[in-house]
Amino acid sequence: MNQGLKRELEIGLQAVRQAAGLCRQVQSAINTESLSKQDSSPVTVADFGSQALICRLLRSEFPGDPVIGEEGAAELRTPAGEDFLRQVLSLCEQSGASGSADEVCDWIDHGGASQYSARFWTLDPIDGTKGFLRKEQYAISLALILNGQIELGILGCPNMEFPGAGHGVLAWAVRGYGAWQQPLFGVEQSAIAIRTSGTADPAQLTICESVESGHSAHDWSGLIAGDLAVQKSPLRMDSQCKYLAVARGDADLYLRLPTKKGYQEKIWDHAGGVLLVQEAGGQVTDIGGRLLDFRQGSTLALNEGVVATNGRVHPVVLRAVERHRPMP
Ligand code: AMP
Ligand code: MG
Repeated sequence: MNQGLKRELEIGLQAVRQAAGLCRQVQSAINTESLSKQDSSPVTVADFGSQALICRLLRSEFPGDPVIGEEGAAELRTPAGEDFLRQVLSLCEQSGASGSADEVCDWIDHGGASQYSARFWTLDPIDGTKGFLRKEQYAISLALILNGQIELGILGCPNMEFPGAGHGVLAWAVRGYGAWQQPLFGVEQSAIAIRTSGTADPAQLTICESVESGHSAHDWSGLIAGDLAVQKSPLRMDSQCKYLAVARGDADLYLRLPTKKGYQEKIWDHAGGVLLVQEAGGQVTDIGGRLLDFRQGSTLALNEGVVATNGRVHPVVLRAVERHRPMP
């Protein structure tokens, strides 16, 4: 392994584990009543709590590293945010990280960078908020980017199945060192290498895509599936768990097809997952076949959508994506 990143990996895994525990606790308290009220406060509280825990550790271990995170504490510092802040403080304390209101807000705001730099982290404290609220898939995503290249990618996936060990997968990759998974909860166990599928016949593909048709065009992927004579229905799931699904062969490809012109993908929605697929033997580009460019600040401003595959079917899938591109 890039020995220089051993400490980053260790701290990153510790931070994601701690945040995942907090998120799982909050999600388990969502009941049918809050579901029917469409109350989004649990995800708000868990989002802030997760970012607070991860940024607290990053700040103390790597104080000079900027973190481009999804959340900021501005809302929590207002009188309207007092109730949320109280809940976040209590959750952090239960997770073993007690701090004053100001300290916890400062942890969260440590994730407030937005500019590109030669070394930075990017964090999505809860990716797939809709999945979190539905008690389905979501992910805690953390990555370290050096000179525009993802060198370390970590996904905490509390509701993904770990073979033989119930729910919770901690998946990670270090450039040049492969992709790995281990149980997210409980006693620490050694990691197992993961590989993408070997599927080469387009008809046998399992396509993974967002549950939300507003985040990825389902009609477009339907045309692609028809063109390639794909037999199976798409595997729909929220969050970057889709990258894990491709990296370990649950699915053969992940399509993220723009639903509107000009949408810029956020780096924190991808950085944790991309290296997993690449290190597991797969390929990740945008829909035009370009590599994702993580040098543009908080968005993938020079890219359009994402195609992640097992590697084998990448060219044939890109051609089908292009053939069915909607008219402007
Ligand atoms: P998913 O769980 O795959 O549906 O993706 C969730 C992510 O979609 C969120 O974290 C948002 O940042 C992102 N998102 C929001 N609006 C859009 C959009 N119009 N197109 C693509 N992604 C979006
Ligand atoms: Mg997200």
